[in-house]
Amino acid sequence: MSETTNAAAEQEHDIVLYHADQGVATITMNRPKYNNAQNGRMTYELDDAFKRAVADDEVKVIVLKGEGKHFSAGHDIGTPGRDIHLSQDRTSMWYDHANKEGGEFLYVREAEAYLGMCRRWRDVPKPTIAAVQGACIAGGLMLAWVCDLIVATDDAFFSDPVVRMGIPGVEYFAHPYELNPRIAKEFLFTGDRMSAERAHQMGMVNRISTRDTLNDDVQQLAEKVATMPRLGLALTKQAINHVEDLQGKRNGMEAAFAWHHFAHTHNDLMSGDKLGGFDAKKMAEENKKQAEVKS
Ligand code: ZN
Repeated sequence: MSETTNAAAEQEHDIVLYHADQGVATITMNRPKYNNAQNGRMTYELDDAFKRAVADDEVKVIVLKGEGKHFSAGHDIGTPGRDIHLSQDRTSMWYDHANKEGGEFLYVREAEAYLGMCRRWRDVPKPTIAAVQGACIAGGLMLAWVCDLIVATDDAFFSDPVVRMGIPGVEYFAHPYELNPRIAKEFLFTGDRMSAERAHQMGMVNRISTRDTLNDDVQQLAEKVATMPRLGLALTKQAINHVEDLQGKRNGMEAAFAWHHFAHTHNDLMSGDKLGGFDAKKMAEENKKQAEVKS
């Protein structure tokens, strides 16, 4: 806990890219070597990029994508650039997590960097579109779900295997809103991959594209939305988000976040590890094993 930097993370450059053109800002996660696993640095750089896009009056629509084979493998639980132990330049009124112990360490960190940040991004007053290819797993879901629209390639897949850690899903608990409650239970109970086609049927994905056409399709959709007036888009987005919150989305997430942290702390008490002994490698092995068990 005494380290203040992570040499491996420092060596990575441009882990979030930003480009704005034709009224569309494109924010790109750029850790393809690690399947865009989100470390703290990436999370805070994403936040900066969203702020930049919101502040630019020329930008009407924001696109979020991931460089490489996969959209995002989730939160960084095992790359050399993992930096959960480091302090960050915080965006909310939460205090620093890095020098805290027990349940406080992760609770404070996730309240700020996961639940807090995702809610900020979900509520940015400009339409957002996620362009998803390949894997969109756990923390990857959170990034896709905070966007207003999702376009996925036909080979994209979605999963939340966090229940395997004894934890009731990822921190941004939108599952019963993205899917109907019964399908959300199946999605979580099995940890199975949901195909883009099924996600489209469920209304979680707006449009299906291909690897070859994803960028063009998303750009076209973004430019079309960008022809609408800025305030009209902002108010429409607010209205729909507000209705979701009236339906309990925000309050439901508060409760799920508390249960999520009871599970982290229980894991810590039982095994000394808040993730129940799972790092990225073990999780991938277990996912593979489970994929072989036919339902
Ligand atoms: Zn967590």
